Amino acid sequence: MKPPYPTLLSPLQVGSVTLKNRVLMGSMHVGLEEERGGFERLGAYFAERARGGVALMVTGGVAPSRRGWLKPFAAKLTTQREARRHRVVTDMVHEAGGRIAMQILHAGRYAYHPLSVAPSRIKSPITPFTPFTLTGRGVRRTVEQFAKSAALAQLAGYDGVEIMGSEGYLINQFIARHTNQRTDEWGGSYENRIRFALEIVRRVREETGPDFIVIFRLSMIDLIPDGSTWPEVVQLAKALEGAGVSMINTGIGWHEARVPTIATLVPRAAFTWVTRKLRDEVSVPLITSNRINMPQVAEDVLARGDADMVSMARPLLADPEWVDKAASGRSDEINTCIACNQACLDHVFQNRRASCLVNPRACHETELVYRTRSVDGRVAVIGAGPAGLSAATVAAERGFRVTLFDAAPEIGGQFNMAKKIPGKEEFRETLRYFSRRLELLGVELKLGERVTSESLAGEKWDHVVLATGVTPRRTRLPGEDGPNVLSYVDVLSGGAEVGPRVAIIGAGGIGFDVAEFLAAPAHEEPPLEDWLAHWGVDRDHATPGALIAPTHPAPARTIHLCQRRPGKLGRGLGKTTGWIHRAQLAHAGVEMLSSCEYERIDATGLHVTIDGKKRVLEVDHVIVCAGQEPDRRLEEPLRAAGYRVHRIGGADEARELDAKRAIDQGARVAASL
Ligand code: FAD
Ligand code: NAP
Ligand code: SF4
Repeated sequence: MKPPYPTLLSPLQVGSVTLKNRVLMGSMHVGLEEERGGFERLGAYFAERARGGVALMVTGGVAPSRRGWLKPFAAKLTTQREARRHRVVTDMVHEAGGRIAMQILHAGRYAYHPLSVAPSRIKSPITPFTPFTLTGRGVRRTVEQFAKSAALAQLAGYDGVEIMGSEGYLINQFIARHTNQRTDEWGGSYENRIRFALEIVRRVREETGPDFIVIFRLSMIDLIPDGSTWPEVVQLAKALEGAGVSMINTGIGWHEARVPTIATLVPRAAFTWVTRKLRDEVSVPLITSNRINMPQVAEDVLARGDADMVSMARPLLADPEWVDKAASGRSDEINTCIACNQACLDHVFQNRRASCLVNPRACHETELVYRTRSVDGRVAVIGAGPAGLSAATVAAERGFRVTLFDAAPEIGGQFNMAKKIPGKEEFRETLRYFSRRLELLGVELKLGERVTSESLAGEKWDHVVLATGVTPRRTRLPGEDGPNVLSYVDVLSGGAEVGPRVAIIGAGGIGFDVAEFLAAPAHEEPPLEDWLAHWGVDRDHATPGALIAPTHPAPARTIHLCQRRPGKLGRGLGKTTGWIHRAQLAHAGVEMLSSCEYERIDATGLHVTIDGKKRVLEVDHVIVCAGQEPDRRLEEPLRAAGYRVHRIGGADEARELDAKRAIDQGARVAASL
């Protein structure tokens, strides 16, 4: 039989090192780096992924100096004492049969502290601090700090380092004219602007010797005005090869770029063509990245020659056994990263430990352990939404005999609505994963069965888990029962016909999603070319930074999105994704209305007062997305019948409910039974 994914799983020679396959776990700061006792947890986190078969992993960014910190007291490696602490991580990874490189990251003007430095004194749009300009001596000192940090990483047992030269951090700030206005030998011409990057690589190579893996993360497409041109990118890549890098990794877009590069609406492998363009220019292996989340996607990227290796960070957070599952023909068992950012990047940006929406054990490997003791007994889980699915699978994994009920004909609960939103197609993967997991664990699945307290009677259940979710909140506005008023459930599940003019009441996550659903001219994923044009990405990279004027298709409807609160709409959306949703609706011409006092709905539309002025939104339909209430109707009867009832997900608390909490709570409750 042909082996699965022959290119992806073939070895790769990197200098004197043979990597066992072409999967690199990309760098991602997870918050354990700075926690007390965090190194042990970090070791367990990486070791689990090493056991899962990944060839090489890269740590989150570690600063080469205090000034280079991402935030106050962020991870740095400047002393032998610090290097000794890293030993826990490298030893655990090596014992697990893996390899690990440390990323050296100097934040430059992206630092969240007042000591930040940069090539020029220009504040970034995403941080509140204006950096100090590095003096010529300061630049030389910084080069040496990179070299020292690399030598210490080698001492700490790392197999290599990755020098972070992309995403708009310090090295990238030197390279781009946008942030480098120096007139000395480190600024001005392109040769001068890339001198800093090249000096760092030369000195790191000198300090670490020929066999150490040195990766340079190169910003191949800046996606900011005044970024590098394509000939400049090629020039730098060639010079980096000459300076001694072992591999070049792909950076796509600066953090301040207004083009989504990793969120769920970005098509899979949307940027590997960028790496492909560099393939004939250099001979060191090239790593490509961004939105590669399943083995076939990775195989296709490598087989068509876009790169030598793929980098995935979040997909390995979601499933530490990703590589092993791919290698053993079990891709259908992969817990796929849906690129939501909700538990990983959004947490990191809020100074919280990262985890994963679909895998609550991520970064909690030592604390959330499912198989703690042998258990026996029967568990009924009522509701097969994200909370119930999570509870049922964890309980079954622990040894309980589990029956999972849902009134609907399919599993998934509200995820079946979420997956219909343009750009959220990945949510289907979570349902495929759970469906396979239920099968493998032998969970008895009873679909199309609405549970009542009577229907459970007559059978012995040691635990009953109430995962019945939520019901949409009613507004109680005059006219709410009229024929022109629909709920988001009618639109997304019921297939209700919606007219060309719409007002949406409620601008939470669901209001935004419904607006995107109704504005989309077609509900299929657009071809990649159209998607890039929509976000103003120049596929030919003929402009500096590869930006062109975006082209937006005409929206399918005229939409007004309303909330009662004053201020900007979408404040509660994800930290790293809210701006994308707001931009999408702006592209579709959606009118965003805050401070709305709703008065009534009639055949003309929605009557509101905004800042004391009355207005009628003349629409064909009013769609209510006004939040939700817990559905706990079964709780009291079940308790009265003597069952031990555990509430999870929306049934427990509808306020600020999302799938992250639902899945996490389901897993934790099941782990505690
Ligand atoms: P539900 O998903 O509501 O599931 C409850 C289940 O219980 C249902 O299947 C129901 O049929 C069943 N049930 C109820 N009563 C009974 C009974 N008596 N007998 C048998 N079965 C019963 N969250 C995110 O985190 N990120 C997102 O991007 C996101 N996008 C969303 C987009 C949309 C359009 C929607 C609608 C929701 C979105 N959510 C998102 C929210 C997320 O889907 C919910 O938070 C999550 O589904 C809640 O899970 P749950 O299991 O508690 O409840
Ligand atoms: P939500 O975020 O709580 O939003 C409800 C909206 O309805 C708010 O805008 C609220 O704002 C308004 N509202 C509340 N009561 C009202 C009333 N009586 N009359 C009129 N308006 C009222 O809830 P949701 O949009 O239903 O989303 C449910 C959950 O799913 C959320 O917690 C969300 O996290 C999750 N979700 C997440 C995403 C995501 O992308 N991460 C996407 C979809 C859903 P005002 O009070 O200001 O009017
Ligand atoms: Fe992927 Fe979302 Fe998990 Fe982050 S939280 S790893 S984006 S599934």
